Amino acid sequence: MTDAAHQPAPPERMCPSTPAANATVFLGMITPAGRVAYVTPALPAEVALAQAGADTPVESRYRLAGPCVTAKCGFWTGAHCGLGERMAASFQEVAGPAEDDLPRCAIRRTCRWYAEQGRAACAACSHVVTDAR
Ligand code: SF4
Repeated sequence: MTDAAHQPAPPERMCPSTPAANATVFLGMITPAGRVAYVTPALPAEVALAQAGADTPVESRYRLAGPCVTAKCGFWTGAHCGLGERMAASFQEVAGPAEDDLPRCAIRRTCRWYAEQGRAACAACSHVVTDAR
């Protein structure tokens, strides 16, 4: 018999497209082609923030990850991340099912989008530039 009090706590979910103010992990760099080049193994967000210039928002050049803030985020539906759902659905509509090879990223074990949308999230993820406005 299981006892809820003795269940391990669920892992903290990470948002793979978080603004700099909430960032803890340097997830990747935006290439000139607009794709994400993932950084593995994980580096702290400060590494990206230290390289960012004042001329453009850091989020337009880097992808940052941080703890999912659930109801404090406008994309939270009350039960899951609406942005991850939308990204995965629209990418599948355009490109079809996700390829077998997933990008190597540093947060898959705890990623909110991957936990909820599976491989389809990863296929869409490398095309995402965070809009921090
Ligand atoms: S969606 Fe996939 S590729 Fe993007 S951060 Fe999450 S696990 Fe990594």
